[in-house]
Amino acid sequence: MSTMQATTVSCPHCGRTNRVPVAAEGRPKCGHCKQPLPWMADAGDDDFTEVAERADIPVVVDLWATWCGPCRMVSPALEKVATDLAGRIKLVKVDVDKNPRLSQRFEVQAVPTLLILDQGETVARQAGAAPAPVLRQWVEQSISARKG
Ligand SMILES: [Zn+2]
Repeated sequence: MSTMQATTVSCPHCGRTNRVPVAAEGRPKCGHCKQPLPWMADAGDDDFTEVAERADIPVVVDLWATWCGPCRMVSPALEKVATDLAGRIKLVKVDVDKNPRLSQRFEVQAVPTLLILDQGETVARQAGAAPAPVLRQWVEQSISARKG
């Protein structure tokens, strides 16, 4: 089912609105100017494998909760990072209260907990809030070591 799901995103280069699938091979490009598009999706217990673990590019996972104050700072900061690094990462958000299996699997003790997955394997992890430039540096360092 989730392969049918899509979100809309406006291209940072030309401003055109694009439909971006939640799960797909490769990385999304703007239908008009062909530049890579920011890729952000929500995932949960049922579709995490498809949305996050099968992605071809590194995935930043934001494990957040609605009641969490710092999450309200980190989520937009991560969206900025995902926009700046369009074509290089995918951002996947998981509401921990609605997805107990993922919370348990990743042993979430505090929110936000951030993970970087490379083909399903956790390559970096951190808990707590940080400003966008710090998050971007952390993401870039974590994905620069990957092969290929
Ligand atoms: Zn465009």
